Amino acid sequence: MDQKEKFEIFKKRRLLAFDEIRHIKLEPFHGCSLNCPFCGISRDKIEAMPREIFYKIIRELNPDKLRLITLCGHGEPTLCKDIELYIHELRNRFPTAVMEMYSNVEVFLRFGFKKMLDVFDSGLTHLMADLYGDDKYDIFISELKKIRGEISSRNIDVVLYKDSPYPLCTYTKPKQKRLVIAREVSSDTSDASRRRHTWGGNICEDKIEEYSGRRLEDFPLQKRCVDLLKYLTIYVSGDAMICCRDGGRAISVGNVKENSLSEIWNSDEAQIIRYLLHTKRRGMIPSCYFCTQQSFREGLYPYWGREYSEKEIEEGLKKMMRINQKSELWKNLKKIETRLPDVIQEAL
Ligand code: SF4
Repeated sequence: MDQKEKFEIFKKRRLLAFDEIRHIKLEPFHGCSLNCPFCGISRDKIEAMPREIFYKIIRELNPDKLRLITLCGHGEPTLCKDIELYIHELRNRFPTAVMEMYSNVEVFLRFGFKKMLDVFDSGLTHLMADLYGDDKYDIFISELKKIRGEISSRNIDVVLYKDSPYPLCTYTKPKQKRLVIAREVSSDTSDASRRRHTWGGNICEDKIEEYSGRRLEDFPLQKRCVDLLKYLTIYVSGDAMICCRDGGRAISVGNVKENSLSEIWNSDEAQIIRYLLHTKRRGMIPSCYFCTQQSFREGLYPYWGREYSEKEIEEGLKKMMRINQKSELWKNLKKIETRLPDVIQEAL
């Protein structure tokens, strides 16, 4: 049985076989107001997603199919001056989709919690408040108590991340509004903590070792990854990335200014990446080389494309790769250059 036949069987059984986009991750703003030591966000540029790109994306997504919208990327979304407008427009076009946003809440603490209520009023379902450090947690909770009435009149559940009965990024759970507070990060596998990851290898060598317990030489993992089978990530520039962990923006499978979302989703570029990750070849993809992410229930997300020859893979990767020489990923790859596949060595 070939992959296409397997995929049709999954579709009939209503498993998670996505031949069109059901989950989109959008980056409303690139850049952050903080500089957390564990984070691999690239700091080369600060910019917001232009409206023409935003509207092109939402026009092309299918309201009957889209189930989950995530506002995150490599930046703090509340720094985008259009954030309430964008949430409002998304809610109008996708009335039944779950919409979640990740924030460091600095903007709310500095300019008032009305802005936080506004994002919920605009149509957000889940807000993840990342509060790292006890001071920030205490200040946030004390400010939150002052607007207890407004929170409860909007029927917003407030939960701690570690106590949340179901995760973010959920397609199927009730669309109850939630403010989820995460106050800790950890590199262990405990459910009680929000896990750190290696940002597609875009953090310094020491941090990679600290978070993963592995040395650079121990990578890549011989594991599948299904992230590009589940969703597409679009950055402020319109670049479509293989996943939101590519902190150095090393691989792009297209750009919405040049192609439709559907063309990008079904392109050979996207399929080559899916094929490589399906066949456990993270080592061929620069931003996957040092990645520690392990997919959950990967069997539910079948790869539906064809097999690709080595020549097609190399040509496709050359087209997609753009490793920034200032990025941590570039430095990390340089340290193990002789062990890399030729196609990555050529790009360094
Ligand atoms: S292996 Fe890691 S970086 Fe690559 S697509 Fe999967 S989660 Fe993203």
